[in-house]
Amino acid sequence: MYDIIIIGAGPAGLTAAIYALRANKKVLLLEKNMPGGQIINVSKVDNYPGVPSTTGFNIIQNMLNQLESFGGEITYEEVLSITKDKEVITTSNTYKGNTIIIANGLEKTKIDFLEGKPNISYCAICDGAFYRGKTIAVVGNGDNTLEDVLYLSDIVSHIYLIVKASKLFGKEELINKVSNLQNITILYETSIIDVNASNKLESIILNNSDNLNVDGLFITTYGYKPNNSIFNDLIELDEKGFIKTHNGIYTNIDGIYAIGDTRVKELRQIVTAASDGALAATLSNKN
Ligand SMILES: Cc1cc2nc3c(=O)[nH]c(=O)nc-3n(C[C@H](O)[C@H](O)[C@H](O)COP(=O)(O)OP(=O)(O)OC[C@H]3O[C@@H](n4cnc5c(N)ncnc54)[C@H](O)[C@@H]3O)c2cc1C
Repeated sequence: MYDIIIIGAGPAGLTAAIYALRANKKVLLLEKNMPGGQIINVSKVDNYPGVPSTTGFNIIQNMLNQLESFGGEITYEEVLSITKDKEVITTSNTYKGNTIIIANGLEKTKIDFLEGKPNISYCAICDGAFYRGKTIAVVGNGDNTLEDVLYLSDIVSHIYLIVKASKLFGKEELINKVSNLQNITILYETSIIDVNASNKLESIILNNSDNLNVDGLFITTYGYKPNNSIFNDLIELDEKGFIKTHNGIYTNIDGIYAIGDTRVKELRQIVTAASDGALAATLSNKN
C-alpha cells in the first residue's frame, strides 16, 4: 500500500515525487519509457526560473538527482488502467494507493502508415546508437530536425534528409552545418508515402522517386496530443482528450489528481507542470 502513486516521470511527476518524499510519504513513481518526458531532448531551455539557459536533459538530470537524494526511485512499468478504489494496474503488477497522481503528459502524434513497422524512431538521442555505420532517412525540417541530423551524422554512415519544403528552415548556423555534412543527401519537395518492411525496414517509398533502401527512419517533425484513453471510463476528459480538473488539479474522483500537460490548462510549460506537482503532493497529504 502506497501513500501516493504517481503515473509518469516527466517534470510534473518528478516534482510531485520530490515533494511527497520530503513529506515522508511512501511513493511509487511509475514510468513507461525513459524519465524526463517531452523536455528531455530539447537543446535549449531559457525560461525555467533560477536555471540559466540550459538543456532539457540537464534540468531532468537535476530533478533525478534531487529525487534520488530524498531516497526516491522510478519503477519502470506502463500503467494500463486505474480504478476508483485507487488501484493502479500496470503491465506487470497491481498496486494500491491512498491517492493517485496522473502526470502522464502528452505523447508524440504517430503517422498511421508507420504504426507497428520496425526500425521507425521518433527519438534520435534514444535510438541513434542502433544505427551505427548504417544508412538512415530523417524526415522533418526546422531547428529540432537539424539538431537531430547533426547528432545522427556522427553515428551513421549516410543520411537522407526528406524535406517537404523547397529549402531548410531554422537557425542559419544549423542550416550551414547540415548543408556542409559529407554524409548527407537532402531531398527537397519530397515526402514519404509508405515503407517496405517485414521483420526489418527494407526501404521507404517517396512521392517523387524510386524507393530508397535505408536501415532506419527517424521522424523528427510531429505534434503532441494527450493519451488519456486508459482513464476514459473513470476520469472526465474534454473533447480533445485532456483531463478536466477543478481548482487546478482535482479530477472528478476523490483522491485522484491530474497534473502537468495532461490536464486542461492555459500554459503547458515545465514551470507550470512543476507547480502542479508541488500542489498535488502537498494537498494529497490531507487524504
Ligand atoms: C519541443 C518542445 C520544446 C519545449 N520547450 C519548452 C521550454 O523551453 N520551456 C518550458 O518550460 N517548456 C517547454 N516545453 C513544454 C514542456 O516540455 C512540458 O510542458 C512538460 O514536459 C510537461 O511535463 P509533464 O510532466 O506534464 O509531461 P511530460 O513531459 O509529457 O511527461 C510525461 C511522462 O509520463 C510518462 N507516461 C505517459 N503515459 C504513461 C503510462 N501509461 N504509464 C507510465 N508512464 C507514462 C511519459 O513517458 C513521460 O515520461 C517544450 C515541449 C516540447 C515538445
